[in-house]
Amino acid sequence: MRTYASFLLNDLLPLVGHGQNKLTLPTPHDGEFTVPVNSSRLECLHRNHSCVTCGKEGALWLLQSHTTEHPHLNLYAVQPMHGEDDELILMTQDHRVPRSRGGKTTQDNLQTMCSYCNNKKGSSSQEEFLLNKELSKEHVVSGKNTRIQRYCPPAMFTRSSLFHGK
Ligand SMILES: [Zn+2]
Repeated sequence: MRTYASFLLNDLLPLVGHGQNKLTLPTPHDGEFTVPVNSSRLECLHRNHSCVTCGKEGALWLLQSHTTEHPHLNLYAVQPMHGEDDELILMTQDHRVPRSRGGKTTQDNLQTMCSYCNNKKGSSSQEEFLLNKELSKEHVVSGKNTRIQRYCPPAMFTRSSLFHGK
């Protein structure tokens, strides 16, 4: 995954998933990119940028792409790790009723979930997931268990430039 630029939550939140089809974004080293901002995923994140299960809050947009595709916006929650790099947790759109059980990709069936909770939910419905969670008395947010992926920011995205720059 290549990262081209980063933006704070509120810099873009009013502009994505909310009536506008495309957005042109500047990057420090790669010029501008025009990206679609009308996907169901971004609409879902616009409605709610926090995980419905654990409450983790999206805080940072990264303009990213896999090797060949055009860049797109991903929203991440930032989890400070003591003495280590901050951990970034991807915010996803989750189907309350899973697609495998006929759930549709419509906003009334979509909810925002962090990738950690979404992985745990798997193909359960939201109701089953919450029930199982209750039964197992598991703490969804508990220290190192929330580690999904370690993200080592490129030199241009130091923590201070992300949160105290421009
Ligand atoms: Zn979560």
